[in-house]
Amino acid sequence: MKMTGDLNLVKKINKSIVLELLQKQSPISRASLAKLTGLTKATVSTLVAELMEENLLYEIGTGESSGGRKPVMLVFRQDAGYAIGVDLGVNYIHAVLTDLKGEIIHEVRRGLKGGASQETVLRELKGCLRTLIAAAPESPYGIVGIGVGVPGITDHQGSVLFAPNLGWRNVPLQRLLEEEFRMPVTIDNEANAGAVGEREFGAGRGVSNLIYISIGIGIGTGIILKNELYRGTSGYSGEMGHISIQADGKPCRCGNIGCWELYASENALLEEASSLLPEDRKELEELVKLAEAGSPEATALFERAGYYLGVGITNIINIFNPELIIIGNRFAHAERFLGAAVRRVIDTRSLPYHREKLRLEFAGLGSRSCVAGASSFAVSRFFADRRISVDYSV
Ligand SMILES: [Zn+2]
Repeated sequence: MKMTGDLNLVKKINKSIVLELLQKQSPISRASLAKLTGLTKATVSTLVAELMEENLLYEIGTGESSGGRKPVMLVFRQDAGYAIGVDLGVNYIHAVLTDLKGEIIHEVRRGLKGGASQETVLRELKGCLRTLIAAAPESPYGIVGIGVGVPGITDHQGSVLFAPNLGWRNVPLQRLLEEEFRMPVTIDNEANAGAVGEREFGAGRGVSNLIYISIGIGIGTGIILKNELYRGTSGYSGEMGHISIQADGKPCRCGNIGCWELYASENALLEEASSLLPEDRKELEELVKLAEAGSPEATALFERAGYYLGVGITNIINIFNPELIIIGNRFAHAERFLGAAVRRVIDTRSLPYHREKLRLEFAGLGSRSCVAGASSFAVSRFFADRRISVDYSV
């Protein structure tokens, strides 16, 4: 980069910014791109020409005109490549192949036996990835990358440092997958991926401050503040499943006592439901069926889980003053049985100023929040890799 004395006179122009706008708002004209990015029309034209050369956009007819000559519209070529998004659950693997706009082309779900070894999980994961790679249509860029959401703490090198419910410690997942598949791999916490998925494509579209709560075997949260994922100093933010809601409660695998996820997760709910469900079908889906059939015991258990969920969510509301709380992952489909209890607690226990503008919703993408976000991590990385810097003086 050329330095021209006063840094204020230097602007970095990223082709990726133009690309992202095209991805979200195409068809769009060169003039609108210039207006939205603040770049000159000449600069936009140069970047557009490069992107056309690279097969990432094409021109179509003409758009609306405010008088004079009708502008040519630019369309993002969403099938120029594909991305893979994976939700690596504790008892399942869910993976999708999407185009560059996040539309799902193919989907794979596999169940995992609880307590499966790391070797087994990795073998199943690689199997899912191979299936999706084989399902990708021909395209100029092929598969641009893989994003994986994992239920645990990850670092910047894409290693899973600690995933207590999976029983993993220090697994260099990114390196293992990049060596095997020879393409960029992004690893992140599954709740972070879910938050981004909902923000981009689901209930959180257009919302600046939101907290996504992923409830499965455990509880994780993804925090979006001022339109950006908040990762904390080392990338470890959002472990709210391990805030204590019972100061002298049950011991947790994390070392703390009375953690939220011991009272409000799928695991906690199924533990309580133990006597209601047959030995070989201790699953959330079975409990939902019972509640749907009108079982008062099942309904009461959902209300109890909803109560504890509300207690934790109240803390989150009071800390972050968010505009939106999204309940996602395995509990996304249980709104009918959880919603009222959660709202009752929030309405009576959160600070009144904080709940004034607050909305609570269940995931708009249902069980697909994490895969959508994971795939968008892969696409964003592909865009970022096309980044160029142009310096010019104002
Ligand atoms: Zn804990």
